[in-house]
Amino acid sequence: MIDQELLEILACPACKTSVRLEGERLICANAACGLRYPIRDGIPVMLIEEAEKSPLTPSLSPSRGEGHG
Ligand SMILES: [Zn+2]
Repeated sequence: MIDQELLEILACPACKTSVRLEGERLICANAACGLRYPIRDGIPVMLIEEAEKSPLTPSLSPSRGEGHG
């Protein structure tokens, strides 16, 4: 279990927004970021490389040329 005090000092390393506990993950409170950080052995892993993107992220590709192979 994560302490509330610990939660308050933790921030998303990608956007510096505070995070909230959801299940066994820490979710970035910034909806535009939405990274989800895992908790291992009760220790939050605040690494962008370890974070998962929100599954609700629309796959928009603004003016990105995709070749046909
Ligand atoms: Zn974030």
